[in-house]
Amino acid sequence: MKGRKIKVIYILGNSRSGSTILSIYLGMHPDISYLGEIKKMNDSYLNRYCSCGKKAEVCEFWGPIIQRNRGVFSRKEPSDAAWYRLISTWKAIFKISNSKIISDDGRLISDIHNVLSDTKQGEQIILDSSKSLKRYVNLSQISDIEVYPILIERDLRSNLASFVKRGMGFISSYLRIVVNLKMITRYLSRHNIPYFRVRYEVFATNPDKMRTQVLNFVGLGDDVHYEQTIDAFHLLSGSPNTIEGFKKSQTIKIHNEQKDPFTKIQQRLLKLMGL
Ligand SMILES: [Zn+2]
Repeated sequence: MKGRKIKVIYILGNSRSGSTILSIYLGMHPDISYLGEIKKMNDSYLNRYCSCGKKAEVCEFWGPIIQRNRGVFSRKEPSDAAWYRLISTWKAIFKISNSKIISDDGRLISDIHNVLSDTKQGEQIILDSSKSLKRYVNLSQISDIEVYPILIERDLRSNLASFVKRGMGFISSYLRIVVNLKMITRYLSRHNIPYFRVRYEVFATNPDKMRTQVLNFVGLGDDVHYEQTIDAFHLLSGSPNTIEGFKKSQTIKIHNEQKDPFTKIQQRLLKLMGL
């Protein structure tokens, strides 16, 4: 690094709000390396595949990184329970997260950056689409790293529909989306942190324009060849099926509001809430 900070573009927001397609779009810039959700680096890597088609352990990009960062890759996969997420987010906000976890994460980012600098031209900004506020707060405490937060927001009704379609509870999904967004925006404004806000619907209508604005925010120009395709990315996912999903989401569906999945009662509730 030699005095220069490693730049990380960090996507904040809710799941199913369009962050993957935004990240793929940004990741086509030759100076940006999209690596998926880096927060998911833990002992689940053994069962995971990379988007290059290989198992994580033998992928030419991730394999050596996993070898060198055993501290990170032997961690237990965190619980997805709501109470766990809330407590660990509060711990991060009050800066009482485990400091070993933060320093291991810092070493991982700097190792990844070294590998990227050795193999690619240009500055190489790391794009992490983890979305969680906890990880953002932890990353922003690492002195070698400069984090550029991008907040993605999707129309609440569509975001909710996307959760419910996957069998998640209506009320719990609503609370999760609203509370999470509130915590993120309050944290950023309370600490006067500059961030860029992306409305998914605006992005989907004119992705090139939005990309230019995001690039400006992180100090990059858009007068480049967007030659990187998803085949050049190394994204770790659960199964080979997800990789097909990544490839499909390369095309932006603008009219993607399919029939909404809400029941009659839920629709009345939405109406009452003005959604
Ligand atoms: Zn790979």
